[in-house]
Amino acid sequence: MAGIHRFYRESATLSPFGQVEEAIARYTSAHPSQKLFRMGIGELSQPICPAAVNAMKQAAIELSKAETFRGYQPECGAGFLRRAIASHYQARSIPLSSNEVFVTSGATEGLSGLSDLFAADCRVQIVEPTYPAYALLNRLQGREIFRMACLPDGRLPLPDRSCRADLIFLCSPNNPTGAAADHTTLKAWVDYANEQEAVILFDAAYEAFVTDPTLPRSILEIEGARSCAIEIGSLSKTASFTGVRLGYVLIPHQLKRDGIALADRFREHCAIRTNGVSYIVQRGGEAVFTPDGQAQIRRALDIYRRNASLWKQTLSSLSLPYGGGTHLPFLFFRCPNGMSGWELFDRLLSEKQVVGMPGEVFGPFGKGCFRLSALSSPADTAEAAQRFFEAINKL
Ligand code: PLP
Repeated sequence: MAGIHRFYRESATLSPFGQVEEAIARYTSAHPSQKLFRMGIGELSQPICPAAVNAMKQAAIELSKAETFRGYQPECGAGFLRRAIASHYQARSIPLSSNEVFVTSGATEGLSGLSDLFAADCRVQIVEPTYPAYALLNRLQGREIFRMACLPDGRLPLPDRSCRADLIFLCSPNNPTGAAADHTTLKAWVDYANEQEAVILFDAAYEAFVTDPTLPRSILEIEGARSCAIEIGSLSKTASFTGVRLGYVLIPHQLKRDGIALADRFREHCAIRTNGVSYIVQRGGEAVFTPDGQAQIRRALDIYRRNASLWKQTLSSLSLPYGGGTHLPFLFFRCPNGMSGWELFDRLLSEKQVVGMPGEVFGPFGKGCFRLSALSSPADTAEAAQRFFEAINKL
């Protein structure tokens, strides 16, 4: 018999985001004519920027002609995109060479490929509430997970030096709490990781939302990080590539464990597990990193920032302390009256057709909290904020 991997045998329930989608599907099948205001899963309202669309059209035309047709792309990414990403970092005074850049079909593929590189007996540290994929990927590998709580205001705490960790997952700005870690805190994590030869997997999926120049947007800005940290990037939320799929992994040359350079092993991983990323998509990604592309994506990010300001005003007027909305296009808060995140989810959906995200999705420390997205259209956000206000105000 073809036995099933233990994780899939034992995980009878859907992934956390799957549970939310299932609850929405149940509601829509019972109320097919109701319009929903989707402020939950981070689906975007702004289209892909013209620079990227034009580049992808041009790439498709190239593929349509024998003289410019191209087939398989290099497993680690096309040179043009690896160079564009490296230059993007170099422009911020972060030394990075193009062969330290690995192109992926999104951050999820990067995270999952990196998780495959490490031994099953690595002890994993995750600071929650955070993006649930970190815990799921490590459970899939059968690893022991140590969960640490974010500070009450959602910030990343200093490392607990009494705890030994081999793999450390950090997300900054952190989804869902919205906190962007400062230099001092990240330096403490880098020192801690170097001391015990751990590796930090630093998820920078929301780095483009950070506008405060005093805050690091990359772990590679931190002294000592090149010997202990890998960065994961995504164009999903910054360039509306959720459906197109493009991300990257940055692995410094000098990062070695067991005497093995991790960049070399990740190169092998890409050769075994993927056959590279679509040429068309990579040309689109390259265009995002041009001055035009950057100016265009900033305009979309400003729209999300204005939505976030509206949510901030709404939460403040309800006297609900919140995190996020500044460095992250999500807002996170404790539910009123001791409600669970799922109770608030059900109530908002059934009474107001507003879909949010229960904090429980982001791990045990997200219990009793709730996340709202600022990625919808301004019109839907305004209507959802009004409906949310009415629902909470009468509690
Ligand atoms: N990392 C974080 C923190 C996220 O919130 C998300 C998506 O919501 C991802 C990674 C996944 O990104 P991608 O769409 O590039 O796989």
